[in-house]
Amino acid sequence: MKPAVFDYHSPSELKEALHLLNEFGYDAKIMSGGQSLIPMMNMRLARPKVVIDINQIKELNYIRINNSVIQIGGLTRHYQIEESKEIEQVCRLITEGMKLIGHSQIRSRGTIGGSVVHADPTAELPVMLSTLGATITLASAEGQRTVTTEEFFMTYLTTTIEMNEILVSVEIPIPPANTGYAIDEFTLRKGDFAIVLAAASVTLDVEGKVKAARLALGGVDGVPVLLDEVTDGLIGKIPDQNLIAECCMGIGDMVDPEPDIHASAEYRRDLCITYAKRVLELAAKRALKQQP
Ligand SMILES: Cc1cc2nc3c(=O)[nH]c(=O)nc-3n(C[C@H](O)[C@H](O)[C@H](O)COP(=O)(O)OP(=O)(O)OC[C@H]3O[C@@H](n4cnc5c(N)ncnc54)[C@H](O)[C@@H]3O)c2cc1C
Repeated sequence: MKPAVFDYHSPSELKEALHLLNEFGYDAKIMSGGQSLIPMMNMRLARPKVVIDINQIKELNYIRINNSVIQIGGLTRHYQIEESKEIEQVCRLITEGMKLIGHSQIRSRGTIGGSVVHADPTAELPVMLSTLGATITLASAEGQRTVTTEEFFMTYLTTTIEMNEILVSVEIPIPPANTGYAIDEFTLRKGDFAIVLAAASVTLDVEGKVKAARLALGGVDGVPVLLDEVTDGLIGKIPDQNLIAECCMGIGDMVDPEPDIHASAEYRRDLCITYAKRVLELAAKRALKQQP
């Protein structure tokens, strides 16, 4: 299959790309790794008249870490994030989650910006970033704005990015010590998009009681689903298996997944409970290991 005819631009500076976006407006599409855009163009699901390829904008490819934040440039590729030892040291969830994205060929081209803007509800990055309370920075010719994941993801493949904006970076707060993470997913075959995925973080206090916790699910709605109702039940308590099971019991009523050719709504609901329990237990176990 071949895409419809389009004009191609390859700016080497962000300013130039933003200028082109302003000029061509809704006729233009940004291309990063092309792993989602090109198949969509080939299937004629997307027919941009102009493709603005941002792969030459080197200023958008970086990983910076300070005491409190991991900042990742929009054009940073999945494999670069997966292989970053600095990220692994401060936030292993990201390292583990990146390994679940497709296959190595996909990870060698796909970018964080592309994955976040594409906003597939079963993609790993949106779920991880929601779990970690990350923010997303968007640039336009007028300036920059930073939004939370809750403000960014709207519904299936839809976000609040404006047509004149480029995702320039993602900022992830480095969690306190005594934090454990886990991510897991149910796929039909290794490397497939998940049917359901779950990610969790659990932070303990000095007595081993839960100080903070987050749980997010993917594949059950158009956006990552944060289940504060579940994690609120853990606060101030020792997160043993029984408590986690008790807190996860109501998840079936909290989610409303759609059935599709891969799984019925009921099956997805069961998967949500199983995977939520699994990631919370592992995150709590890992947090305990971090205890002095
Ligand atoms: C066979 C296969 C299997 C895959 N499996 C998985 C998987 O298991 N999990 C998973 O999460 N993903 C998976 N993917 C998708 C992959 O992660 C993509 O890399 C990702 O969805 C899109 O990233 P990209 O950089 O290729 O973006 P592109 O395809 O270049 O762009 C995607 C969309 O984002 C827009 N865009 C891109 N960058 C920016 C930016 N910086 N600012 C504004 N808009 C931008 C584009 O205009 C387009 O609309 C798979 C893809 C393939 C082909």
